[in-house]
This record gives sequence, C-alpha cells and structure tokens, in this order.
Amino acid sequence: MTLRIGCIADDFTGGTDVAAAFRRAGLRTALVFGTPDDTTVLPADCDAAVVALKSRSTPADEAVADSLAAQRWLWTKGAAQVYFKYCSTFDSTPQGNIGPVTDALMDAAGATVTLHCPASPPNGRTVYRGHLFVHDQLLSDSPLRHHPLNPMTDSSLPRLLSAQTRHQVSVIDWSTVRRGVDAVREALLAHEQAGVRHVIADALTDEDLAVLGAAALELPVVAGAAGLAEGVGHAHPTAGPATAEPWPGEGRAAVLAGSCSARTLEQIAQFYAASLPSLHLDVLAAATGRDVTGEALAWYDEQDPASPVLVYASASPEELAAVQAQLGVAEAAAQVEELLGTLASHLVDRGVRRLLVAGGETSGAVTTALGVRAVLVGEEADPGVPWTYASTEHGDLALMLKSGNFGAPDLFTRALTEAK
Ligand code: ADP
Repeated sequence: MTLRIGCIADDFTGGTDVAAAFRRAGLRTALVFGTPDDTTVLPADCDAAVVALKSRSTPADEAVADSLAAQRWLWTKGAAQVYFKYCSTFDSTPQGNIGPVTDALMDAAGATVTLHCPASPPNGRTVYRGHLFVHDQLLSDSPLRHHPLNPMTDSSLPRLLSAQTRHQVSVIDWSTVRRGVDAVREALLAHEQAGVRHVIADALTDEDLAVLGAAALELPVVAGAAGLAEGVGHAHPTAGPATAEPWPGEGRAAVLAGSCSARTLEQIAQFYAASLPSLHLDVLAAATGRDVTGEALAWYDEQDPASPVLVYASASPEELAAVQAQLGVAEAAAQVEELLGTLASHLVDRGVRRLLVAGGETSGAVTTALGVRAVLVGEEADPGVPWTYASTEHGDLALMLKSGNFGAPDLFTRALTEAK
C-alpha cells in the first residue's frame, strides 16, 4: 500500500477534523490514534493517513520527538508528503510548538521551504496580509485573546511564527494567490531563493486554499489547518473509485457520553425528549464500590433491541462541581473514563455495532478500552463529526467520536435512527 499523503495532527479533535477534510477531497483516509508502531495496522487501500497526537501544548522537545516518530512511520507507508495540522487559531506560544515541529519535520525531510496557512473559511478563520482573522475581528481582538491555555494577543502570523523559529518567515499576499497556482509557485521559489524557509500564504476562501494546495503539491512538508489540507487533498490524484465503506449493517446502536459541554448536554436532552431510553451513571456510587457497570448492563438488556440507547456520565456544571469536590477532579475523571471504557467493551460484546461517543477524553478512553488504534474515516453526520469504521476483537463497528461542542442538537437521534 502506498499513501499519497501523510498527516500529523497536534490534537485528537484536530485529527478527526483534518481526516474528514481529506475524505471530502475524495481520499480514502485512515485516522490513527497516538504514535503508531510496527504493530499498527491501517485499513486497506488508503490514500491518506492522519496520525492524531497530543502535542499541541506539551513541551516542545516532546512534541518534536513524537512528530518525528509519526513522520518516519508515515514514510514507511509511502507518504512522500507530510502535512502538519495545527489549529486554525494558530494555538501556540513563543516556545512552540508550531515552529519547532515544522522545522524538525523539514530538517528530517531535507526540505528548504514550506507553505503555511491556518485559514478555515467555513469557521470564519481567514488570513489577509499575514494577519489572522476570526470572523470580522483580528485574532487578538477576538475572544481567543482570553484562551485559558494559550491566550492569542497578536494577529501577525509572521511575528508569531518568527518567535518560534530561527529561520526566515515571509508572506505570499492575496493578490498573488488570486493570480493562481503558477503565480504562487513562482512566489514560493522566489522566497526559497531569498533564504526564506516559512512562507505564510493569505487565503480568504476555499478556492484560495485549492490554489495553495495545488501549488504546494511537490513540497515534502506543508503546514496549516484543515482548510489547506483539503486543498492539498484535492490536488492529489486518488487511487481510483473509493472502495465501499464497511457499514456494519444489522446490530444495536448506543451513545456513551462523558462530555459535560453545553452542546452535549443539549444533545442528551434532545435524545430524552425523543422518548428514547437513557441512563445516567452515578459516578459517586461507582466510587464507593457499587457495581454501576453491572446495573447499567442489566438495564441495557431490558431495552428494546430496535431502539438506540444512551448511557451518560455527563453532568450539569453544578453536579460536576459537587462530584469533583468530593472525589477530586482527576479521580472523578478516572472513574468516569473507567466506567465508560468498560461499558463500551461489554456493549460491543452484546452486539452494539454503531457506537457514538461524546467527549474528547472520553473518546480516548473508549478507543483504548476497545483496542482501536486506527479507523477508516467515513461520511460526516455533521461538520467535523464523521462516522468511522473499526475492526476490534469485540467485533466490527461504526464508531462516531465527537468532541464536546461538536454536532447539532439532534445529532444523537439523527445519526442513530437514520437508515443507511
Ligand atoms: P469534552 O470534549 O466536552 O471536553 P471530555 O470527555 O474531553 O469532553 O471531558 C469531560 C471530562 O469530564 C472527562 O474527563 C470526564 O471523565 C469528566 N466527567 C464526565 N462526567 C463526569 C461526572 N459526572 N463527574 C465528574 N467528572 C465527569
């Protein structure tokens, strides 16, 4: 098998987002959770593989080491081009990790120039004259200036990136991008000859990103958000008509929710309002040793097999605060993740073939419990929320991994009651 393109995403949600973008571009795409190794098996005939790391906010040397390991693995699968996916808000600090990781990937590949663009026009992220906008505001005027981990108080991408690399940074402006693929290629070459290593391109629309993707086709390393990845994806020829996705067909459907985000709470309320069966897990009882898993399975066995079910630990902010006050934040999270991971294995053993998981951390716990390391990415039910397909020792299943605030309020009912 030979990949057309490999991708390294600096967080799990970003991995799903960029994998969905490659699939929209017509590439048969695999998503791999965590650093792969010799035992990681990819689905057959993939054009693209995305390795989702947790390297956005780790120390720069760790992020570099993990990214280089992922790059080496992607090369063994034939990927001549590696796309480094970071956040469309350029989420980083003067210490990294966008600059150090891009430089390390370029050094390893012997690359002398790369193209960056964090624009994501459907989400209101655009780049003009090297400045990043969030809808109609500069990044530094947007709510992201108050981000809890990495407050973004500057909008100038050349300035932000220059603080993270010792190499030269420059911009290809929108007037050049509008002149098309050849104009961008010429500008890239001119920058490279002038000793510039990081070239940031303006982009206001998906059309601009398609131009940039085509112009970047020959570069060993390209960097940005999901928008440019889609542009690059469109420029790569695919292996041929996509092989049918392995929809598992008959089987039961379930949601496991551990996300306490506002949107997940709405989705839970909508499921309940649709008179579908749901069960709330008592985290405090589990912590005192009650067999909450056994009780949940007994409840599950009594439900109508034709109906999707929801099992959730998710709690309102008040409930969450109360549980955390009693158990501590880390212990509460560990309880929930253990409960939902164990339930996932039991449910799949009992015939669940469509499983929707709500919550980023929760998704990590469930995939680990099921032994899922790589999935094939399928159709999106909502933007950034694709169905994926996995083979596990418990059975083949369709898995939807949703981070907290993703998906429309009716996602749970729509995704699990729609016929395929
Ligand atoms: P999101 O994507 O919305 O951030 P996550 O799954 O990443 O969702 O995070 C939610 C966190 O809240 C998890 O660590 C989970 O274990 C924790 N959690 C969920 N329900 C409860 C609860 N009832 N009490 C305490 N912690 C909870």
